[in-house]
Amino acid sequence: MKCKICGEKAIIHLRQHNLALCRKHFIEWFEKHTEKTIKKFDMFRRGEPIAIGISGGKDSTAVALALKRLGYDVRGIFIDLGIPVYSEYSRNLVTNFSSKFGIPIEIYNLKEHYGESLPELAARRRDKICSMCGTIKRYILNKWALEIGAAALVTGHNLDDEAATLLSNTLRWDASYLAKQNPVLPPTHPKFVKKVKPFAFFTEREIAVYAIVMGIEFSKMSCPFSKGAKSLRYKHVLNELEVQSPGTKLRFYREFLKFQKDYLKVQIEEPKLRKCKICGMPTTLEVCSFCRIFGLDRKED
Ligand code: SF4
Ligand SMILES: [Zn+2]
Ligand SMILES: [Zn+2]
Repeated sequence: MKCKICGEKAIIHLRQHNLALCRKHFIEWFEKHTEKTIKKFDMFRRGEPIAIGISGGKDSTAVALALKRLGYDVRGIFIDLGIPVYSEYSRNLVTNFSSKFGIPIEIYNLKEHYGESLPELAARRRDKICSMCGTIKRYILNKWALEIGAAALVTGHNLDDEAATLLSNTLRWDASYLAKQNPVLPPTHPKFVKKVKPFAFFTEREIAVYAIVMGIEFSKMSCPFSKGAKSLRYKHVLNELEVQSPGTKLRFYREFLKFQKDYLKVQIEEPKLRKCKICGMPTTLEVCSFCRIFGLDRKED
């Protein structure tokens, strides 16, 4: 197959766009569309610090590199959760990525800051490890993004993630989630940083190809605590549809966003937020869930 632009050997065929491209023109296409999404949704501007949580996987590393190449001021953070083998493996990849591409990445060690690693917390508490991990990562990422004065917190969510979430929300007719699902999540409090997804219209495959052709060494190891999320089933169903009818995922998500803008008017009651009495961050309770996980309220007494 030949590149539609220059006639050289194509490295990828984008069936949903009916487009075959060589390495050079694929990189150009990919970065041009990243920029288009950033502009269309007014995500952030050049000169503003942009925060990215970098896990070592293909999505977060690829988005950091694409934004840096587009001239944005990218700042990364890697949260070392202290998961045996997995955290160390990911940390090494992230440090190599940082020096290879000149992207500043802070290494944030959970145990050094709060005295316990994620597995130690899991052994002490009854909560599900992934829900604790989610709370911890969200809290640290937001707090750090706030401290560096970031205009936005970028996540590497892709079209496969967005379409699977949309399918799940639709099957439950969850109006409040449907009303909120968007490539931009505006902050609901001055201490929350806006979240944005510049890769929301790229498939996992497109991102993986970009990461490979750019020479990113990304993690292929799964966290030992991951148990095959329900979203994988939705992704599988959507992939089957995509094979039969290329462009299904993109149409499903893109047309939904138009529908949401024009017709989906749901009155969402945002929960009343107050200041956590320990850390001062916004929360619905007296002590936020992050401080409760680490027992910081008890240490106070
Ligand atoms: S799978 Fe691992 S990294 Fe992911 S949320 Fe669970 S504990 Fe955290
Ligand atoms: Zn070409
Ligand atoms: Zn708190």
